[in-house]
Amino acid sequence: MEKQTFACPSCGGTLELKYRFSKMAVCGYCNQTSFVENGQLKLAGDKNELANYGSKLSLAAKGTLIGLKFMIIGHVRFEYFGGFWDEWLVGMDGQSDEFWIHEDEGDLILYTKMETETIPDYQQLKIGTPIEFAGKRLFPTEKNKAQILGGEGELPYRVLPGQQADFVDGIFYGEGTVFSFKFLPEETQFYRGQFIKWDEIVIEKADNPYSEQFK
Ligand SMILES: [Zn+2]
Repeated sequence: MEKQTFACPSCGGTLELKYRFSKMAVCGYCNQTSFVENGQLKLAGDKNELANYGSKLSLAAKGTLIGLKFMIIGHVRFEYFGGFWDEWLVGMDGQSDEFWIHEDEGDLILYTKMETETIPDYQQLKIGTPIEFAGKRLFPTEKNKAQILGGEGELPYRVLPGQQADFVDGIFYGEGTVFSFKFLPEETQFYRGQFIKWDEIVIEKADNPYSEQFK
């Protein structure tokens, strides 16, 4: 992975962005969010800090995922009426696709972002009503309002805590895979995913990249 180095516009700490598509970063020293603009970091929103709830996953964790080397480079927590869930941006060795581990009450889905020219409108998607999309038949099974609770590390889209992040999830007909449309403030994303098990993630090292600073 190529790395880009920036100074946090709030505290001056060094931030190393590992993912070339990153559009924002949360400073590991001061928790300030910044957006990447014209090759620079610009202050955005307030500082935020996510409570650690004891996941096996953490920022900068490395290891193997479904047999491939990986590293966690970003993390977003979403909130909805049913509670919250986490999404971990994963850099995979030799892969250019955007991968996420979706973690919700211990269940894991490995999502890959799919490029599409159009995205259905949130209002038009209905639970139980199949749609034809990108040459596939999709069956929506869940539709919910949600919002961003916070994030850490670097992320390939721009969001701030409190912003809306509604979603429609479901299954690809007859393929054993799942999909998710995510309606973010600046963009809508389409992901294809598969359920994975915890034993398909082997973590070799789960250290905090910023801990050196606080010793
Ligand atoms: Zn900072």
